[in-house]
Amino acid sequence: TTARRLDPFADLNPAQREAVQHGTEAEPDLRPLLVIAGAGSGKTNTLAHRVAKLILHGADPQRMLLLTFSRRAAQEMEQRVAGVLRRVLGGTTTPTALPWSGTFHSIGARLLREYAGRIGLETNFTISDRGDAEDLLGLVRNDLGLTQTKNRFPQKGTCLAIYSRVVNTQAPLAEVLQQNFPWCSAWEDELRRLFGAYVQAKQEQNVLDYDDLLLFWSEMMGEPSLATEVGAAFDHVLVDEYQDTNRLQAAILLGLKPEGTGVTVVGDDAQSIYAFRGATVRNILDFPHQFRQPARSVALEQNYRSIQPILAVSNAVIAAASERHAKTLWTDRAGAQLPQLVSVPDEASEARWVADRILQHREAGLTLKSQAVLFRTSSHSAVLELELTRRNIPFVKFGGLKFLEASHVKDLLAILRFAQNPRGRLAGLRTLQLMPGIGPVTATRVLEAIEQAADPRDAVQAFEPPAAAAGEWAAFVELFQAMHKSSGSSTWPAEVGLAKRWYLPQLERLHDDSEARRADVENLERMASGYADRERFLTELTLDPPDATSDQSGPPGRDEDYLILSTIHSAKGQEWKAVFLLRAVDGCIPSDLGTGSTSEIDEERRLLYVALTRAKDHLHVMTPHRFYITQQGSMGDRHVYAARTRFISDALLPQFESITWPLASVDPARRAPQTVVMQIRDRAKSAWR
Ligand code: ATP
Ligand code: MG
Repeated sequence: TTARRLDPFADLNPAQREAVQHGTEAEPDLRPLLVIAGAGSGKTNTLAHRVAKLILHGADPQRMLLLTFSRRAAQEMEQRVAGVLRRVLGGTTTPTALPWSGTFHSIGARLLREYAGRIGLETNFTISDRGDAEDLLGLVRNDLGLTQTKNRFPQKGTCLAIYSRVVNTQAPLAEVLQQNFPWCSAWEDELRRLFGAYVQAKQEQNVLDYDDLLLFWSEMMGEPSLATEVGAAFDHVLVDEYQDTNRLQAAILLGLKPEGTGVTVVGDDAQSIYAFRGATVRNILDFPHQFRQPARSVALEQNYRSIQPILAVSNAVIAAASERHAKTLWTDRAGAQLPQLVSVPDEASEARWVADRILQHREAGLTLKSQAVLFRTSSHSAVLELELTRRNIPFVKFGGLKFLEASHVKDLLAILRFAQNPRGRLAGLRTLQLMPGIGPVTATRVLEAIEQAADPRDAVQAFEPPAAAAGEWAAFVELFQAMHKSSGSSTWPAEVGLAKRWYLPQLERLHDDSEARRADVENLERMASGYADRERFLTELTLDPPDATSDQSGPPGRDEDYLILSTIHSAKGQEWKAVFLLRAVDGCIPSDLGTGSTSEIDEERRLLYVALTRAKDHLHVMTPHRFYITQQGSMGDRHVYAARTRFISDALLPQFESITWPLASVDPARRAPQTVVMQIRDRAKSAWR
């Protein structure tokens, strides 16, 4: 064991070691490296060891770029790398600088600010999140008179989805409409006009949306001198979860390193679950022949995560996919306990069963943190969240409603964004309208004056506010001047304090429950004080907002024990001792939306595969027969009866322990074969007509 502690590479299997050492041999192999392998085979772990190995071999961490799927994943990766380095170098602190790490989007934001002057951007651009992008698109749409009520023009969310897909896939609009949004095809000309105007508005307002971060970065890589310069800044570029990258991301990678030397990507085509957002599994399949020299491929076959019975059902589920790269995956983790397939009458009993079982696991020594509840869509956990709250089981929810979506948090952020970039319309409109007597018309006039003025401060100073706003306006002018003076980074935390002090009276005036909201505002201030400057804070917060928690007092501390609730999409790459999957029924997995083409069905199957393969020791698959859904539009609220997901076939049943709960009240013969819909609310309503 002493030798093991000294040599963290001793635990690696031969294939993992091959990947870790690639390029560090006496006669270095300069080919790009691809690790393509199934879930839990140690891809991420291998990548972390490789980064450490390269650093130990003399690579400069500041010249390494590590691209992960989320900020959480980047942080985990940093910890793993630091852990390996500590084991080799000794000591308790991180011995050396760590690589640049983050998502494609956050690294893009960083590079675009750095190179702004050279590519015709202003350095103080604002990044709008999806919600803001939708709202801006909505404003532009209204300006063009393309309102949704008139002739059922697509909603702003749909418009943004179409736009985003065109950008990320780099496919023509007509093709995207025909393949993914056929019901919007009739609007092609109007949409083209809308998107043109949207791009124009973003430019005028000095705003970039998420997609721009990739688009502009990839455009930058299309300029040979810049591509060479940026590419030369990194000796190594390493990417995790490569199966979920899109065309732009592949183009960026190729632009950075056309020779492929220093490039490492890892991924699993069976876990590709972001095609709906424009990711393409072709990237990982084409990787071997993309660069000027062919890649070296390494396959990993041993799964270290799950016990045999869990791996067996996961393998069986994915083996039935119509299109896939055959891979073998085995484990030496024996285990007697079969995964459980739990049949319950409705979602209330689903929630009760899950909460009971979580507490039982905790009694048996599993912390809450080592357990997770997964679901297809954020709304699926609503009933469980109530149950957990009732029983005082703390949780954090990934991929759900965000802290940032609360209106008071948005208010304070708008004030900060407005200071950052006074031309940003949305932030400006929101901030100005916090004052009494100022509505959209007055706010727009202020913003127009700012646009015309050489110095925004003069425009604000000179503006005559409506009488009702006089007091607030004077305070606002003072705030605005102060925030613009403090453009140096050292005054950043003070700036948040100023904004908060101006905002709190507005908050009290606008909300009855201002006490609870005040806590969030304080929280935001605390978070902000952890950042050196405004740009960093706003960028990181926009790109990776904190997750929602069971109590409203912000993200829990490091030492607290809490359960994880997560959409399957956000659970990618992670693992827990016990995993619960909610609503494993047809209509949820596969979702109603995803039941069109074979490729959509396949993506849903891969999603289930991702969910099952998160579990190490305990897997509980829930199948409620009835649940309630709330829908927008004409469908109304309804109860839905559903059957076990089609991806778990009858032939697979012997590999599960089947549980029916509660025993007495369920008649197995009553299981509905397909979705039946009962419009209970509608019936109740019609009784009054
Ligand atoms: P996913 O496809 O879900 O992202 P992955 O292939 O990235 O999975 P990891 O998360 O890197 O897999 O590893 C899965 C688990 O196996 C981790 O707990 C990791 O520590 C462990 N593991 C990986 N390699 C080894 C090894 N050689 N010996 C022991 N444990 C290992
Ligand atoms: Mg991984």
